[in-house]
Amino acid sequence: MMIFDAHLDLAMNALEWNRDLRRPLEEIRERERASTDKPDRGRGTVCFPEMRRGQVGLCAATQIARHVKPGNPLPGWFSPEQAWAQTQGQLAWYRAMEEQGELVQIRSREDLARQVALWESPPEHAPIGYVLSLEGADSLVSLRHLERAYASGLRAVGPAHYGPGTYAQGTDATGGLGIKGRELLREMDRLSMILDVTHLCDDSFWEALGLYHGPVWASHSNCRALVPHNRQLNDAQIRALAERGAVIGCALDSWMLVPDWVHGKTTPASAGLKLEQIITHLDHICQLTGRVRHVGIGSDLDGGFGTEQTPQDLDTIADLSRFPEMLGKRGFSETDVKAVMHGNLIRFLESALPE
Ligand SMILES: [Zn+2]
Repeated sequence: MMIFDAHLDLAMNALEWNRDLRRPLEEIRERERASTDKPDRGRGTVCFPEMRRGQVGLCAATQIARHVKPGNPLPGWFSPEQAWAQTQGQLAWYRAMEEQGELVQIRSREDLARQVALWESPPEHAPIGYVLSLEGADSLVSLRHLERAYASGLRAVGPAHYGPGTYAQGTDATGGLGIKGRELLREMDRLSMILDVTHLCDDSFWEALGLYHGPVWASHSNCRALVPHNRQLNDAQIRALAERGAVIGCALDSWMLVPDWVHGKTTPASAGLKLEQIITHLDHICQLTGRVRHVGIGSDLDGGFGTEQTPQDLDTIADLSRFPEMLGKRGFSETDVKAVMHGNLIRFLESALPE
């Protein structure tokens, strides 16, 4: 069954982790065994061959580059222009992968329909479709840059990532959008882009939801009722998103799945973390909204972590293909399983993307 993964940081992995995602995963892992610059060296779970093996034929893939102002301890670029240049390097990598027939950019409803049809019985080495998404908008030097990004196929924007941002306040921060953030949303509305509310702090979340008229999704978010943290969506937010027709992609980052995870200390085994746990989050959203319509998968599996921070029964992204059976066992009908694995996100994009 085809899988739609609503959140992967493919270009970040290619350029900052120096991973050639066309290669077999074992080879990627082996080549970085001796490296210690990133916590997940030798433990990555995502590459194109594994995506194809798991039938991940569609995804939302990011551009990501933070601008940090003096005093901000988070890693990032010291000017928006540097951050913009980083995202343009990422775009160049996506283009190179398109030229190689590895990826195909999904900009319109027509592109989407073509990709869905292709993956009904995909040929060997079928290109993986990606919707380009910007995680954190700090790299937009001006609103003109958003227009240019749209012309390059950018279709979704999450205004903030971790910490304080130029256009909104993100995870672990507080506060609203400010003048710049409100202008950004107006411009996104004009271009009819997707607002990604993942990573918005509560203040910014509610302000953005109130102001924005266009389509909204949460590409990679889990439930605060199950694992308390401001990064997660609370029940009121989930209900409000459902009212807006949003789809919430549930993520596989371990600390978002089980409570009391301590970074660098807890292990998937010590927490007893299994893939099943994501279904508990999916199911919570279904129970809360009364339907299966608003859930999907936004795995985030290459978001700066590897198997040290994923369910112990997951080795690669191909293991997502075990969800249909697991969902079936939890009482999801075949129609509902399809909705979770790809149907909801495809339906959402059928109306969110331009003609
Ligand atoms: Zn993220």
